[in-house]
Amino acid sequence: MTKRLLLVGAGHAHLEVLRSLTEETLNAADICLISPSEFQYYSGMFSGYTEGINSEEDTRIDLRKLTKKAGIQFIKKEASAIRPHHKKLVCQDGSVYPFDVISFDIGSRSIPYEFEESAARSVKPNYQFIDEINLLRETPQPLIVGGGAVGTELALSIQAYKEKQQIQGQVRLITSEALLAPSPRIVSDKLHSILRKKGIRIWENERVVEVGENYVRTDRGNKVRHSGVLWMGGAIGDPIFQSSGVDIDEKGFALVRSTLQFKNYDYIFGAGDCVSFIDHPDLPKSGVYVVREGPILDRNLRLYLGNEKLEDYEPKKNASYILSTGNYMGFLIYGPICLHTHRAWKTKNKLDHSYMDKYK
Ligand SMILES: Cc1cc2nc3c(=O)[nH]c(=O)nc-3n(C[C@H](O)[C@H](O)[C@H](O)COP(=O)(O)OP(=O)(O)OC[C@H]3O[C@@H](n4cnc5c(N)ncnc54)[C@H](O)[C@@H]3O)c2cc1C
Repeated sequence: MTKRLLLVGAGHAHLEVLRSLTEETLNAADICLISPSEFQYYSGMFSGYTEGINSEEDTRIDLRKLTKKAGIQFIKKEASAIRPHHKKLVCQDGSVYPFDVISFDIGSRSIPYEFEESAARSVKPNYQFIDEINLLRETPQPLIVGGGAVGTELALSIQAYKEKQQIQGQVRLITSEALLAPSPRIVSDKLHSILRKKGIRIWENERVVEVGENYVRTDRGNKVRHSGVLWMGGAIGDPIFQSSGVDIDEKGFALVRSTLQFKNYDYIFGAGDCVSFIDHPDLPKSGVYVVREGPILDRNLRLYLGNEKLEDYEPKKNASYILSTGNYMGFLIYGPICLHTHRAWKTKNKLDHSYMDKYK
């Protein structure tokens, strides 16, 4: 009998499942992709878009086109709850989708509960990115909260855009730890000096405790003025998992086993930033890792539907990152090694374009 497989969210791992379906169909299953947007936006291209190098079209993958090619149904809806025992998915508009097998790749959220009603803005879910950045980069004193790879890269890209467009003012960045913590000090210091040279104002080791319409207050008593706040202070889980009663970790990420199955449900799979591995709780929430999970998720969904034994995912311990620092320069980081060169940017640009070519 045909089984129904629901793919919820078009994150990196699900894109790989879709790509694989374009090559090899799964006759035993009726498959649907559920996503609130017709496009999946690729974060590797966000710095280039922000700075004005890439167009909106460059940053996104057309999901209607890809699902058609994969021979599956596309449903433009936002999932809002799972009824795990009844094998049903509920969407924001109240519609209910029964399933035999379901898989989540819906990414993470960023604004903590206490700031949800404040002026803080987020680029997550990722289809919000273009509108949020279009607004923020035109303002005189955009403030980024968060000094990780994502926050620092965006601060640098907005600053580069402002310079090119001759928009007055400067980008501000507040981080509760050192920049890029927990990277080695040498990496953090080097990035700090790049940001300062570009004219970005930095407050390190200060936590934002209050967000007002045009200022934030920190735990050191500083009041920092802003013309818009983007909250990039670390990933948190989508509330859908907590409200549905599935097992989550302390940040709200669904707990999965090494087979990418949820802790207590064999028929619920998950990959990407929305999950945490029981055996690897500290695995970074980063696209690099999600991309590696894609082929395993694809294989395990096929094996599960065929009643075969699943494979285990064993994450690699290290990954290299390249941050775009503006004006075609890149900052490559691999453990304690870091290099700030044009070649690093070229490598990143090549990798990002070849990633997009796979799914376009
Ligand atoms: C500005 C920026 C730059 C970054 N640069 C890099 C980088 O250079 N390298 C790197 O490794 N990482 C980078 N990251 C991190 C990277 O974006 C994430 O780790 C990665 O996108 C996570 O992939 P994912 O598949 O888990 O989710 P996502 O890519 O976030 O995809 C989630 C999908 O689920 C959909 N969705 C969301 N909610 C629902 C719902 N309720 N129902 C149905 N669908 C839903 C969304 O529309 C989206 O299609 C960056 C992040 C940002 C914000």
